[in-house]
Formats: sequence, structure tokens, C-alpha cells
Amino acid sequence: MRPALCGYCKIPAGPFMRIEDERIYGACTHEHLKLLREEKKLKRIAITCDDGLDYAISKTKQTYIDMSKKNKTYVLHEWERKDRKLLFSRVVNEYMTWANHQAQTGRMDKVIRDGSD
Ligand SMILES: [Zn+2]
Repeated sequence: MRPALCGYCKIPAGPFMRIEDERIYGACTHEHLKLLREEKKLKRIAITCDDGLDYAISKTKQTYIDMSKKNKTYVLHEWERKDRKLLFSRVVNEYMTWANHQAQTGRMDKVIRDGSD
């Protein structure tokens, strides 16, 4: 398991990591790895965006319906835990796909998949 975000600036982490005792920080660049060694961090945090949430919800609607039928209820907390985890992991994954695409292209309306997921 590796950190998803840079511990300094909070953008997606690159190949750099700082391991100290039981804590592991990701870093996007060598410069930020150096700043983390100096215990420096920006105060910014990652936040969600409504457009991305709308996208993730619409992309996982079928998963929700399928899992509801499998569990014989649309009441989420009555589902088997592994099915709830599956739904949430798909929602988060769709959100991250949207956020990565938006960051790379500046477009918020359309996500094109390369078939790798
Ligand atoms: Zn960084």
C-alpha cells in the first residue's frame, strides 16, 4: 500500500516516499520529498466536487441496483459488508477517474476510458 497523495502539496503522489517510524508519506517530486524531510507541509486539503460526485453516482447506479437485488433490499446498511465495500469502491474509483481526467484535460463534461480499468 502506498499513499495516494503527496504529503506536502496533496496532489497525486509520484514514486517518492518518506518512511519514518510507522508513518509513510507520498511525494509528487523530489523537491517535495525534501520539504517533507524538513517537516514542511501545505495546509491545503483534497475536497470533493459536485460535478464529480454526480458523475460517480450516475456511473455506479447499475452497481447499486444489482447489489440491491442480490441483497433483496435497497436499504444499504442491510447489505452484506462486502457488497457495500464494492459499491463504495466503485463510487470512489469513478470519482477519481473523473478528477484525474478533469485535471489532465480541463474538461469536466466527458470522461474517456482507455479500457485499463
Ligand atoms: Zn507535492
